[in-house]
Amino acid sequence: MRLALDEAERAVLGGDVPVGAVVLSPDGTTVLAAGHNEREATGDPTAHAEILAIRRAAAALGEWRLSGCTLVVTLEPCTMCAGAIVQSRVDRVVYGARDEKAGAAGSLWDVIRDRRLNHRPEVVEGVLATECARLLTDFFRGR
Ligand SMILES: [Zn+2]
Repeated sequence: MRLALDEAERAVLGGDVPVGAVVLSPDGTTVLAAGHNEREATGDPTAHAEILAIRRAAAALGEWRLSGCTLVVTLEPCTMCAGAIVQSRVDRVVYGARDEKAGAAGSLWDVIRDRRLNHRPEVVEGVLATECARLLTDFFRGR
């Protein structure tokens, strides 16, 4: 999560909301990829931290299945990212702050653990939640 927080801080340089993500290898020892929110920087509405990290991890592994991998992200994933997480077959999602307004991993929806889906990654929430949330509140306060 510390690495994801570092990544989140990079988003601010491009004028983006500070959200960062990393994908860890199945044995948990290697960071396969990282990403931060680049929506403003790239003008791409899908350029959320999780999407970019998942794409890069798949490129690093040379296949779309991220079975056994863990995605760590500073903010609870939205519906788009929750969908991408399920599609990528990531096995574990660790997130920091909850997103009560748009979260799709327990707050507003729980797309990731929806019992109707075949693949339901494990979800661990609240890791360094205060720091993850503070980064966001500081960003919006400074605007
Ligand atoms: Zn998202």
